[in-house]
Amino acid sequence: MTALQGRIALVTGASQGIGRACALELARAGATVALAARNEVRLAEVAAEIAAAGGQAVPFALDVASEESIKAGARAVLERFGKVEILVNNAGITRDGLMLRMKRADWDDVLATNLTGAFLLTQALLSPMLKNRWGRIVNITSVVGRTGQAGQANYAASKAGLIGFTRSLAREVASRGITANAVAPGYIETPMTAVLDEKLRTAMMAQIPLGRPGTDADVAHAVAFLASDAAGYITGQVLDVNGGMFIGA
Ligand code: NDP
Repeated sequence: MTALQGRIALVTGASQGIGRACALELARAGATVALAARNEVRLAEVAAEIAAAGGQAVPFALDVASEESIKAGARAVLERFGKVEILVNNAGITRDGLMLRMKRADWDDVLATNLTGAFLLTQALLSPMLKNRWGRIVNITSVVGRTGQAGQANYAASKAGLIGFTRSLAREVASRGITANAVAPGYIETPMTAVLDEKLRTAMMAQIPLGRPGTDADVAHAVAFLASDAAGYITGQVLDVNGGMFIGA
C-alpha cells in the first residue's frame, strides 16, 4: 500500500501501543513519520522497526503536557520537514478514581495531556497545513467519551472534549482541504489496558459483540484510512473501532 507516499505525518504517543501501531501503518502506506513521545529509548526502537520494514521515521522527544515542549517539538519537526500533513493526536493517560476521591491533580494531568496537548500541538502545526491546502487531523478519543465511565470522569471528559474539538476544527479548516476526524477505540490490548484486573477485563469482554478485544492494528487501520485521499470527503466524524461495544448515533 502506498496511498500516503511522500506525505509527512506526526504521531504523538508513538513510543508504544496504539501510537506505535499508527506510526507503523502510516509508514507502511508510504508516509515519512515523525514519532513523538517522552521515552526516547522506545521511540528509537520504533524508528528502527520502521526502518527495518523499509519505511522512514524520525523520533522527536515531546511532552504533550508541556506547552514549551510542544512548541520546541513542533519547531524541530517543521525545521526538519517543512510541514506536517497528517497529524495523529494519540498521546493519552488515565488517572482513574471515583468522583469524591479524585484529586484535582489527576483531573488537571489528564485534561492537560489528553485535551490541551492536542489543542496546542494542532495550533502549532496548523499554519503550514492551511498554506499547503491539504491536511488530515485524526484525534484518538475513546468509547467512554461517548458513554461515560464510572471512575473515569477526568478521562471521559477529556475524550468527550476531543470530540467537540474535532468537530469545531473540522468546520474551521474544511475550506482549505483539511479534514479533522476522531477515532474512538473500545477495549484495545495495549500497555494502558494491561494493568486492568481480570474481573474488569471479563466484564468488558462480555460487552463486545465481536467477542474479542481490539488490537492496536485495528485502530491503526482506521487512522490510516482517515489519513488517506480515499477519506477526503469525510470530516467531523467519530469512527468507532470497538467490536460493537457501543453502537449508537
Ligand atoms: P499506552 O499507555 O500504551 O500509550 C500511551 C502513549 O502516550 C505512550 O506512547 C506514551 O509515551 C504517550 N504519552 C503519554 N503521556 C504523554 C506525554 N505527556 N507526552 C507525550 N506522549 C505521552 O496507551 P494506548 O496505546 O492504549 O492509548 C493510546 C491512545 O488511545 C490514548 O489516547 C488512549 O486514551 C486511547 N485509547 C485507548 C484505549 C485502549 O483500550 N487501549 C481505548 C480507547 C482509547 P511516553 O510515555 O513515551 O511519553
